[in-house]
Amino acid sequence: MGADSMKTYSGKSVYGGIAIGRIHVYKKNESLVRREKIDDPDAELERYERAKAEAVAQLKSLYDKALKEVGEVNAAIFEIHQMMLEDGDYNESVEHIVRTQQVNAEYAVASTGDNFAMMFAEMEDDYMRERAADVKDISERLLNVLCGSASGAVQTEEPVIIAADDLAPSETVQLDKDKILSFVTVHGSTNSHTAILARTMGIPALIGTDVSLDGIDGKLGIVDGMEGRFYVEPDEELLGQMRRKQQTELAQRELLSSLKGKENVTLDGRKVMLYANIGNVKDMSKVLHNDAGGIGLFRSEFLYLESDHFPTEEEQFQVYKTVAETMAGKRAIIRTLDIGADKKCDYFGLEAEENPALGYRGIRICLTQTDVFKTQLRALFRASVFGKLAIMYPMIISVEEIRRIHEIVAEVKAELTESKTPFGDPEQGIMIETPAAVMISGELAKEVDFFSIGTNDLTQYTLAIDRQNPRLDSFYDAHHPAVLRMIAMVVENAHREGTWVGICGELGADTELTEEFLRMGVDELSVSPNYILPVRRRIREINLEA
Ligand code: PEP
Ligand code: MG
Repeated sequence: MGADSMKTYSGKSVYGGIAIGRIHVYKKNESLVRREKIDDPDAELERYERAKAEAVAQLKSLYDKALKEVGEVNAAIFEIHQMMLEDGDYNESVEHIVRTQQVNAEYAVASTGDNFAMMFAEMEDDYMRERAADVKDISERLLNVLCGSASGAVQTEEPVIIAADDLAPSETVQLDKDKILSFVTVHGSTNSHTAILARTMGIPALIGTDVSLDGIDGKLGIVDGMEGRFYVEPDEELLGQMRRKQQTELAQRELLSSLKGKENVTLDGRKVMLYANIGNVKDMSKVLHNDAGGIGLFRSEFLYLESDHFPTEEEQFQVYKTVAETMAGKRAIIRTLDIGADKKCDYFGLEAEENPALGYRGIRICLTQTDVFKTQLRALFRASVFGKLAIMYPMIISVEEIRRIHEIVAEVKAELTESKTPFGDPEQGIMIETPAAVMISGELAKEVDFFSIGTNDLTQYTLAIDRQNPRLDSFYDAHHPAVLRMIAMVVENAHREGTWVGICGELGADTELTEEFLRMGVDELSVSPNYILPVRRRIREINLEA
């Protein structure tokens, strides 16, 4: 080990955390398939049927294991694999090869697998292209059964960093978590089931890593899931630095593990929804890592800010679909584009304004540039098929705005129906972040499914203090009674109409106010992922009956 031999590689992080340990290069069970002539095709096809039944049984038990560990949505891949094994075209191809060429089942399965994988790999659609890995996976499973070899489980004594070319979903779920510190793959995509499973299982992981696997087996490695780095044979200095980083992370994990899986419930039994605020799909790992019950605010404008062009429907759809699938049935509230004021994008061509915070921003842009709005809505409604998405509209000041939004939504749904594009039925809510919305919250509550109070803007507009101006910090009172009374008023008006209320502004994470919010009847708090567990701890100390 030494500075000279240390190598640094980069990959896309699928899940954060630090892993330090020996590297184990994982090779697939690539038994060479021989083409052998057979005399009795019927007997060979019976062998194939028995192997298929065994493969289905394996997939059933993998499904049950995944269901317990990573939830229904993520386990679904093993049901899909069972369905693929029953697929008419696949089976017909195997039978055809066995009968017409009079060859062994292994050869027929390997050829069918290669042909189908190639066909999927050449498809236009990203989703279909990714299915190529699934066809290879089921074919390999069948081959393992036919050849009587074990199905790729990792056998190691000490916990290791697994480095591989690629890992199939079934291989990922079979990894014995006690023996695996992390995994690093050369291929793989962020949206693949493997990546989703890895995130959900909480294993630090990198994909698309520019590492060569030759000669690294058995060497010491470090995976930095925060920075997307893989170090082979690290020098002493880096090792020390990484051990300290790991310690800090472990301390946070200890707090996490003692509170993870626990309910957000007060001593007297009041339950609260505790969700996470994010601005980017990369933050998803933090959402899961900190055990958030859902996403209360996805600031979708960051998609626009990080792009140099209007994000297309397809680009947005992929992001929202990933969020929906990764949350595995938990609610994820996506806020529609809230650009303007401090968040500027050159390609929008927004003019400079005297008072940008009071200017052309948020829903005002969407209701004016309806083509931009509709593109986002189409992506959101389509992605809603893949999980429990909810849509939230920012900067609302009137009932008329909501009615206009509903009209535009109806047009979008009609267009999707017309083009036979599947779409879901997400809940729709609004942000309460203007004093006007507070004052008419009773009327607004009749129009929507939920409210989320944006205390950042509500405070700025109520106190007439520009939230961007540091000179005004000493005047800015986050606990101003005017704001707190407004929150109480909103909750009361909303509950009268059966509408639930959350807080997604920074005040939601202020544990000095948690008790007060609960006494007001706030149903949900949405905070930065790192605040989830501290707020959970606070909720669990409160007794509302005391
Ligand atoms: C808010 O105003 O409180 C809010 C959550 O939205 P943003 O901070 O993005 O304006
Ligand atoms: Mg706001």
